Order: sequence, then C-alpha cells, then structure tokens
Amino acid sequence: MPKRVIILGSTGSIGCSALSVADNLPDEFEIVGLAAESRWQRIAEQVERYHPKAVVLSDPISAENLTERLCEVGSDTVVWSGADALVRLVEEVECDFVLAGIVGVAGLPATLAAVRRGLTVGLANKESLVVAGELMVRAAANSKARLLPVDSEHSAIYQSLLSGRHEEIERLYLTASGGPFRTWTAEQMRSAAPADAMRHPTWSMGPKISIDSATMMNKALEIIEAKWLFGVDPDRIEVVVHPESIIHSMVAFRDGSIVAQMGRPDMRTPIQYAMTHPQRLTGCGERLEFTQLQRMHFEPPDPARFPSLRLGHEVARLGGTAGAALNAANEAAVDAFRNERIGFLEIVPMVEDVVKSHLSADQPSGFEAHPDLTTLMAVDAWARRAIAQCCTV
Ligand code: NAD
Ligand code: MG
Repeated sequence: MPKRVIILGSTGSIGCSALSVADNLPDEFEIVGLAAESRWQRIAEQVERYHPKAVVLSDPISAENLTERLCEVGSDTVVWSGADALVRLVEEVECDFVLAGIVGVAGLPATLAAVRRGLTVGLANKESLVVAGELMVRAAANSKARLLPVDSEHSAIYQSLLSGRHEEIERLYLTASGGPFRTWTAEQMRSAAPADAMRHPTWSMGPKISIDSATMMNKALEIIEAKWLFGVDPDRIEVVVHPESIIHSMVAFRDGSIVAQMGRPDMRTPIQYAMTHPQRLTGCGERLEFTQLQRMHFEPPDPARFPSLRLGHEVARLGGTAGAALNAANEAAVDAFRNERIGFLEIVPMVEDVVKSHLSADQPSGFEAHPDLTTLMAVDAWARRAIAQCCTV
C-alpha cells in the first residue's frame, strides 16, 4: 500500500521538492491532499497530475479560480478555502504522512492539528516549533504522533542520534553555511538589497528563509527548533559555520565520538528520509564525491555582525511566549526589509527590541511561561503591531 501523503505548502520550495521525491518513487506514495496560499495555476497543474482528494488555497479568490478550472477539466478534487480549511484538510482526509512545508506561523494550526491527530509529520515549518514548541511536543506525546525533522540540520542530528542514547549526548553542533554575507563587512551589509540577501551560496530556498539565512536568524530559529525536537539544553547547542554545507550537523557524545551526517546540499535528501522513514530508499540526487571535494572549512560565527545567534540562545532558554514574540517580529521585519521599508542591518535589532519589550511588558502582551495557543497568537499579533509601529516612525 502506498503511503497517503498531504503536502502543506505544495507550491513552495519544500513542497515542490517533496513532490519530486514522490515522482522518483511512484509506487511508494499517493498524494491525497495539497495546500498553498494563492498560486492557483500551479496547484491546478499539481491537481491534474496527482489527483488528490482535496486541496486548500487560503486565498478565497484564488480558490474560486481553481474551482472553475477544475470544473472545466472535470476533476473530482474538492477545493476548500477559508480560515479553518488547512486544519480541516489534515483532520478529514485519510492519510499516513503530512509534510508541513508552509512558511511562517501560518503553518502552525494545521501542523498542530496533524500532531494532535497522531499522524506522522515531516516538519519543515520550523516556525511552528519556535512559536509553540511546548504545545507541539506535549501534543505529540499525548497522541503518539511522530515528528520527523525535514530541516537538513535537524534531520542530520536525528540520524546521528541513532548511534547513542539521550543521556550520552554532550553537545549538538548545528552547522551553518554563513549565508550570502559571511565575508561581507558590516558597512557592506548596511546597504544590502533584498536581492543580495536572497542569493544563498549553497541552498536554493524560498524568500523568507533565504533572508533568515542572511541575518543568521535561521540558525537562531534552528537552535530553538533543536531544543524542542531533541530535548537538549540550549547551552549545549553550538553553531559552527561550515561554508560548503556538506556536513549537515553533528552530535558529540560523552565518550569523545562525534557523529555527523553528510551529503550534497539537496533538500530532497532530508525530505525523502522523513517521507520513507523508517526505510532508506534510492534517492535521486547527485552523490557526494569525496575526491572532488578537496576541502571542508569550519569557523566560529561572528557575534558582532550576526547578533541573532545570541538572541536565539536567549529565547531558547526562556521558552514560553518568547519564541512567539521573536518569530512574529522576525516575520514582520523580514517583510519590511523585502518591501524596502527598513535596511538589512535594522532587521535583527528591531526584532531584539520587540522581544525585550515583550519580556518587560505586563499582561496581556507580556511573557508567560506556559501559554496556550490563544495566548501565543495574541503575542504574535502584538509583536507584528510593534514592528509596524517601528517602521512608521
Ligand atoms: P516558500 O516560500 O518557497 O513556500 C512556502 C509555501 O507555503 C508556499 O506553498 C505557500 O503557498 C505556502 N503558504 C504560505 N502562506 C500560506 C498560508 N497562509 N496558507 C497556506 N499556504 C501558505 O518557502 P520554503 O522555502 O519552501 O519554506 C517552507 C518552510 O520550510 C519554512 O518554514 C522554512 O523555514 C522551512 N525550510 C525550508 C528549506 C528550504 O530549503 N526551502 C529548508 C529548511 C526548512
Ligand atoms: Mg536548516
């Protein structure tokens, strides 16, 4: 029986790579659900190819256009839109695996619903763990859902951890390419344009995560993601810059052994690992040739040019609502930078200011240690408003 798969974010970089994994292993998967925001022509092509039972387009006008198109071609795929449609998709369509590939907190409700339903979830949408790590981990424990990381670093750590026990872990090493500005001076970074920030040296990804890689906020989010996925104290999670992106991350065990997972930087590998888990099937990507590799470099990150990393550690230690404030402020600041309302070097200090005022504010916008989803979404909305205010002064 093929695995029945729902792909949330099917028009994005992760979603398209997941469909390419499915194309390469046609007997293994049946695509039963697809979801995206608004690119209805793209999803119409996907529907004609994969014949899912249901699709969601969050944008109602795009959903209407898609419905018309599917009527014309006689498709029996149902189209849902509206506030609860993403959650409805993972709750109502029979499936074995959900790929959480929506970008940002927009992916949280459906990812959490999939976890609550006890499904196996391939998690690319790191923002849902950053915002609601405690809720997600508790929900997974209650429902026996399996959370399989898709983020390449966390997939590498997951695989490396198979060679030891939790109490034997000394340290997790998250590798980072360093992003497009690794060798730029602060002065050059000050005038960086969105197109510069989007030019990632080793990975081809969606716009938001590409800019997060340029500020290294992506690695800050990944520290928080690792804390929740692996239950490791943030002080034992270290970031190492490795520009070639060959070692995807490492685990140091207490006997002195370091176990790493390696490969070419190709997201189809960690996506396929999660989709075919617990098996390893033949992958379609190019293989790593060590003799052509010549060298691998490692260096410490520069805290002066990349203050996001310290912030990531701090927010990981705090837990509670701090991740929701950090994430929403960052999503809003990245948007402001993409729309050229703020400069590149303003992104992280603005986010830091919002996190600080969250920590010093009284309720309802202040810090709470064990928030529910309603509280987290209120903090998210508050942090977005705070960034909007910073951008207008
Ligand atoms: P992307 O921008 O290429 O794609 C985002 C997808 O989310 C699109 O399909 C879009 O339609 C959908 N989406 C956005 N808002 C939505 C909404 N409100 N309702 C329904 N769908 C919505 O982004 P991406 O690079 O594929 O990243 C997706 C997630 O995976 C992010 O959380 C990112 O951090 C993570 N991730 C990506 C990569 C990568 O290589 N691209 C690597 C590791 C982790
Ligand atoms: Mg990553």
